[in-house]
Amino acid sequence: DSVVNRIAAGEVIQRPVSAVKELIENSLDAASTSINLLLKDGGLKLIQISDDGHGIRYEDLPILCERHTTSKLSSFEDLMSIKSMGFRGEALASMTYVSHVTVTTITKGQLHGYRVSYRDGAMEHEPRACAAVKGTQIMVENLFYNMTARKKTLQNSADDYSKIVDLHGATRADVHTVVTSSRLDAIRSVYGVSVARNLIKLEASDNGPSSSVFEMHGFMSNANYAAKKITMVLFINDRLVEWSALKRAIEIVYATTLPKASKPFVYISIVLPPENIDVNVHPTKRETGRQSSSSQINTSKEVILSPKTPGSR
Ligand code: ADP
Ligand code: MG
Repeated sequence: DSVVNRIAAGEVIQRPVSAVKELIENSLDAASTSINLLLKDGGLKLIQISDDGHGIRYEDLPILCERHTTSKLSSFEDLMSIKSMGFRGEALASMTYVSHVTVTTITKGQLHGYRVSYRDGAMEHEPRACAAVKGTQIMVENLFYNMTARKKTLQNSADDYSKIVDLHGATRADVHTVVTSSRLDAIRSVYGVSVARNLIKLEASDNGPSSSVFEMHGFMSNANYAAKKITMVLFINDRLVEWSALKRAIEIVYATTLPKASKPFVYISIVLPPENIDVNVHPTKRETGRQSSSSQINTSKEVILSPKTPGSR
């Protein structure tokens, strides 16, 4: 059944960029304020992520890479909430079936950290004491070493590298995420000064008694801004999502107001009560072409939002 596990894992982790996304989400879930990412050969040879989050407890290390092991689901209520980004307990396990995973971690108040390697859903050896700085470092080595065909088709590593850069919104192999105090500072550090200089601030909220609480913050490029490529960054409850209906709506507005060649930059962060969101996550579903309903939101995992009236759980 190692073949079965490997095939299932290859569905969850389809490309290096899927692993990177899961690793970044885990680091964010661990309340990290700084994340470093290093890739070799487009992530096929090495993906290394270091964060300064809360770390992983020693007693959790043996089961860390078992399927369906998660520290993030404590109740059914949590399942309804997308406050925490990851909640399937499948990502790390999957990586161990298609690569060699090494975790180095230290939790608060400990004198030393631990390092342990995993293969096929289990530890390869007991955790070893080691020196460590705050947080967790995860190395994913030789991705798809046991899936020759997959590896071949991905060998054009420049392709996936550009996807990862896209995901991260940065332009270097060593991507350093700086969490800064203001959103504008963050946009400036990730997308550059020329973007940040040409933005208009958006704010909206709806706290009416009959409607559910809704807040929106964002920035959109003004008429001075001309880029080669449209950039839309959309967050719902701090989760990065893709929302094709909104994207198309924004494109249409820009198409009618800006010179044809200019491509907008749009950042929007929407905050909703988690219980007003129906989350349906399946790791293998990519965005499914045309959506008939504007209430659907897709990520590379599928997140479906359906507006609910309060109390109609
Ligand atoms: P999930 O995120 O769905 O819980 P994962 O397979 O992505 O499942 O991760 C499994 C578990 O490993 C997480 O629940 C978390 O407890 C732990 N973990 C993974 N990465 C980190 C990290 N960078 N910092 C702290 N804990 C982590
Ligand atoms: Mg996760």
